[in-house]
Amino acid sequence: TYRLGPKITAWDEDRKLWLQKNPEFPNFVQGKPRVMLVTGSPPNPCDNPIGDHYLLKAIKNKIDYCRIHGIEIVYNLAQLEMEMAGYWAKLPLIRRLMLSHPEVEWIWWMDSDALFTDMVFEIPFNKYEDHNLIIHGYPDLLFDQKSWVAVNTGSFLVRNCQWSLDLLDAWAPMGPKGPVREEAGKVLTANLKGRPAFEADDQSALIYLLTSQKDQWMDKVFIENSYYLHGYWAGLVDRYEEMIEKYHPGLGDARWPFVTHFVGCKPCGSYGDYPAERCLKNMERAFNFADNQVLNLYGFRHEGLLSPNIKRIRNETDNPLQYVDQLDVRHAKHEST
Ligand code: UDP
Ligand code: MN
Repeated sequence: TYRLGPKITAWDEDRKLWLQKNPEFPNFVQGKPRVMLVTGSPPNPCDNPIGDHYLLKAIKNKIDYCRIHGIEIVYNLAQLEMEMAGYWAKLPLIRRLMLSHPEVEWIWWMDSDALFTDMVFEIPFNKYEDHNLIIHGYPDLLFDQKSWVAVNTGSFLVRNCQWSLDLLDAWAPMGPKGPVREEAGKVLTANLKGRPAFEADDQSALIYLLTSQKDQWMDKVFIENSYYLHGYWAGLVDRYEEMIEKYHPGLGDARWPFVTHFVGCKPCGSYGDYPAERCLKNMERAFNFADNQVLNLYGFRHEGLLSPNIKRIRNETDNPLQYVDQLDVRHAKHEST
């Protein structure tokens, strides 16, 4: 069966020694784990040219969130392993980054079609001290129903450790493009509730692994649904105005979703599950909803959630620091959550 690379068995010990020898690269800085957000898109231009514009907006959105929260960001355009093309590309990439950045404690994968819509909310890392995989989902959908949407692999975190390397090894064998992926797709469709017939995808393969080898993996997996680490766009995008009226950033849940993920939209591809127009319009809305939270510090906001144009929301002042203290979300977050 397919392997992501030579078997590594002593990563925890090797990494620990490396960290001891390289104190200038600590995996925790001021009590917070070092986090690397990883995203990417195919090496070639989008089939649908407007898709490239939305990829640009999506990476700008992630750069903003990561700057505000002191998270490193990687954008990958390369295909590391020929066999792992498409949605499987994240597996070899995550492994490569773990091994090349021993100082990073958590790798956070985020799809290109997922946007941060709460610029204040932060991952509650204290909660996850005993866990190695943090993924949005629902335990009942996973174990009672074996639903193919029980968890979502569009936004998840994995700890840089031996357990995660083992997980990637166990996860990868259904990935190779061609007959292996095709045959595996049949197994997944036969075993997972609601899954249409198509080649094996990384999300279904993970669900299959976690349900069929529950005892081996689940004690280190945190199924998160107290906030939207992944939020399905269709139920959220029509409510942004209501959220603005009633709530404030920093909540991360249905009141002000942390992430809005455009599952099934494929603006970069030639076909998707939803009309391209509806997808693009709502991506624009999600982007501007988030961008307003960024622009607020600088005294601007979008004219509307569908407008790329901005307007001034405060007069210029000779005392700019009052606004830094009041509006910089790096200060605000301590009070609002
Ligand atoms: N992806 C990538 N390289 C590729 C194809 C996909 O980096 O060649 C990433 C991209 O970030 C994408 C994610 O993998 O969002 C999931 O792939 P999928 O085909 O499911 O696309 P989605 O509809 O989620 O964008
Ligand atoms: Mn996606």
